[in-house]
Amino acid sequence: GVQDSDAIAQRIAALAEENRDIHERACFNLNPATNVMSPRAEAILSSGIGTRPSLGYPGDKYEMGLEAIEEIEVIAAALCAQVFDAHFAEIRVPSGALANLFGFMATCNPGDTIIAPPASVGGHVTHHTAGCAGLFGLKTVAAPVDADGYTIDIVGLRSLAQDVHPRLITVGASLNLFEHPVAAVRDIADAVGAKVLFDAAHQCGIIAGRAWRNPLAEGAHLMTMSTYKSLGGPAGGLIVTNDADMAERLDAIAFPGMTANFDAAKSAALALTMLDWVDHGTAYAAKMIEVAQALAQALADRDLPVFAADRGFTRSHQLAIEAARFGGGQAASKTLRKAGFLACGIGLPLPEVPGDMNGLRIGTPELVRWGVDVEHVPEIAALIAEALTTDAPEALAPRTRALRERFQTLHFVGG
Ligand code: PLP
Repeated sequence: GVQDSDAIAQRIAALAEENRDIHERACFNLNPATNVMSPRAEAILSSGIGTRPSLGYPGDKYEMGLEAIEEIEVIAAALCAQVFDAHFAEIRVPSGALANLFGFMATCNPGDTIIAPPASVGGHVTHHTAGCAGLFGLKTVAAPVDADGYTIDIVGLRSLAQDVHPRLITVGASLNLFEHPVAAVRDIADAVGAKVLFDAAHQCGIIAGRAWRNPLAEGAHLMTMSTYKSLGGPAGGLIVTNDADMAERLDAIAFPGMTANFDAAKSAALALTMLDWVDHGTAYAAKMIEVAQALAQALADRDLPVFAADRGFTRSHQLAIEAARFGGGQAASKTLRKAGFLACGIGLPLPEVPGDMNGLRIGTPELVRWGVDVEHVPEIAALIAEALTTDAPEALAPRTRALRERFQTLHFVGG
C-alpha cells in the first residue's frame, strides 16, 4: 500500500544518510577499495543523462537525439587515454571484474590456460576458477610467489610458463606494496606466445598520478581497472591499451558484445574524474604514498606487526598488518569497525590463519582525499593501535568520531 511505500522510501533515505554518517563522520576509511567522488562528478551522475539511450558508436547511434551523449563518450575516452598515457581507452566497462572478463575474452579462448597471482600475494578471484576466468572456461595456474617482493617470482614463472603454455599471464593484485616485474613478465610471455594483462584495480590511481611505473610502458598488452577505488570516480571499470589489435577486440567485446546501452552519466562522471587527475593527480598520488609510508612506520612504532618491515613496508598507497595476533584479517577488521575504522582482510605469504585471512589491508586514498596528512598520522595510528589491542574497542568510537569530524573538506578535486 501507499503507506508502506512511503515508509520504505523514508527508510531508504535514512539508510543513505546513515551510510554517509558511517563513512564521512563516524569512521576513518582505511579501505583502499573505495573513495569519495569529487562533487562535480557526483552531481553529473544524477543529471538525468544516464537513462538516455547510447547504443551504437559516436556518429552512428541507433536511436536519435544522442549528439550530446556521443560527445561525452568521446571526451571521456580521450581523457582516460591521456591520463594513462595510452593510445586507446575502453570506457564501456561496468566494473573492474568485468574489465578482467573483457580482457580474458580479448586474449584467450575457453579451454586456455592462464597464469595469475595467488591469494597469498593479493591475487583476485576474477583471475581464478570461481571468478570470471573460470566461468569463461579458462584454467588458472597460480604464479610462483616472491614473498619478499609480495609479487610473482620471475625465475619460477619462466619455467612454469614453459610447462603450461599460458595464453595470458596476469600481474597486479588487491594489495600491491612494491613494483611488479612487468618487463620481465613480458619477456617470459613473449617467449611462450602469451599476452600480459596488468590488473590495476588498485594501482590505477598512483599510475595515473605518475607515482608508480606505468605497466603499459613496461610491456603489458592491456591494463584493467576499477574506476571507484584509488581513482575516485564512479563505480565502474576501464581498460587501456597501446595495442591497436587489442583495442579493436575490446571495442567489439564492449559493443555489440557485452553492453548495448551504456550509462552516459557514468561516462560523464568518469570524464570529470579524469580532469581531477589531470589537474591534481601528481600531488594526490604522491601524498597517498607519503601518508601510507608514515602510517606504516607509526603503526610499527606502536608495536603492530606491519608486513615487510625490513623492506620499508610499502612503495604504494597500501600497507598490510600481519593479522594472526588479532585472530585474522577479518576478525581484526570487525574489531576496528567497533572503534570507527573501516578496513578488511587480505592474503599474505605467511602461515594461514584457520577460518580467516592472515593479513589486514590498509590504504590511504580516502584519508588523503579528506585532508589527512603526515602530521595527522601519529594521532590516527595511536587510535588504530589502541583499537587492535584494547578489550573494549567500541569505547574508542566517540574519540574516533571527534577526530574524523575534523576532516570534512575534500582535497585534490576540482570544481
Ligand atoms: N581486480 C582486483 C585486483 C581487485 O582487487 C578487484 C576488487 O574488487 C577487482 C579486480 C574487481 O573490481 P570491481 O570490484 O570493480 O569489480
